[in-house]
Amino acid sequence: MKTYRVAVLPGDGIGPEVVGAAMTVLKAVGKKFDFSVELTEGLIGGAAIDVAGTPLPPETVEKCQQADAVFLGSVGGPKWENLPHLQKPEQGLLGIRKVLGTFANLRPIKVWDALVSGSTLKPEIVQGVDIMIVRELTGGIYFGKPSGFEEREGARTAFNTMIYHDWEIERIAKIAFEIARQRKHRLVSVEKANVLDVSQLWREIIVEVSKDYPDVEVSQMYVDNAAMQLIRNPRQFDVIVTGNLFGDILSDEASMLTGSLGMLPSACVGGKIGLYEPVHGSAPDIAGKNKANPLASIATVALMLEYSFGVKEAARAIESAIDQTLAAGFRTADIAEAGSSVLSTSEMTEKFLENLENAA
Ligand code: NAD
Repeated sequence: MKTYRVAVLPGDGIGPEVVGAAMTVLKAVGKKFDFSVELTEGLIGGAAIDVAGTPLPPETVEKCQQADAVFLGSVGGPKWENLPHLQKPEQGLLGIRKVLGTFANLRPIKVWDALVSGSTLKPEIVQGVDIMIVRELTGGIYFGKPSGFEEREGARTAFNTMIYHDWEIERIAKIAFEIARQRKHRLVSVEKANVLDVSQLWREIIVEVSKDYPDVEVSQMYVDNAAMQLIRNPRQFDVIVTGNLFGDILSDEASMLTGSLGMLPSACVGGKIGLYEPVHGSAPDIAGKNKANPLASIATVALMLEYSFGVKEAARAIESAIDQTLAAGFRTADIAEAGSSVLSTSEMTEKFLENLENAA
């Protein structure tokens, strides 16, 4: 029987609650699909600051480097808000992404049938939306040099550099094409090639890489148009690949098609070891109250099974059990409609497990 080693970093706030639910699910899926998991827990964020005085202790890094994948809850909270910037819990997150060398951020945007009315857009626009956004995470304008402030001809001036090397575009393009191949074989590359040199290079490389993927239909879209199309007709998209800045904005825009932060998973891949985390933060307002929606973390388990372990049928079973749980009307407070009964984190996890048991 195959064993997968997972470094588990629950973090702060609702992190431990939703990660606890996700790991219970991971073990149950393992039983059903004949694999076992070896879980090693590590400290990160505020929890690590409290115990070890740093948001990313070396022992945590070591545990992550010895694992097949890393599963993270969330970091941060009011307790640590006034620490100097470089000592804040969020540094733990940035640090572990850097150590693992993950350059591709995967943000699936799926509108679950039962939650269609939770979106601010009309049901007929969002029903059936299932998009994968592949965002370049370690390059582009957020990291380009030179950057800074200076005085130029008496004016206070600030500048950043949007820069991509061919190999950075090529490696993210390959990830996106491979994912498109596993989905509906359609890829839209988003840039601003009518204005930016860096986007012209992006476009050229996408065309070059596309030659190795004749089975994937590729198209190019300017970012302003993409922002509009995501609202006008989001169902036209299957996989979107884009740079760091455009991906940051478009993935947040697209996530709101679903209307629910408590349902969104994410992954950072590209290095040897993938990092998996729900999109939401530590939700200090509901932390420790058994109120958090565990489904984002449970959907994140599905991502890990698919992209780190290649157990696709197990990932599909999780998605199908989420679908059935929602279709049966079970809701946590964040996704409850007026008048519906509200489940706790542990009750929702129980309902999910019952549906998983019945899933094909
Ligand atoms: P948040 O995502 O923690 O919460 C925003 C709102 O959504 C809150 O009302 C919260 O109760 C609700 N919410 C979030 N997840 C939920 C879930 N699973 N179930 C039910 N409701 C849920 O964002 P915030 O309030 O801006 O940030 C709180 C803290 O989290 C801050 O310290 C911030 O820095 C940190 N943060 C961490 C991450 C991360 O670890 N990846 C991401 C975002 C924010």
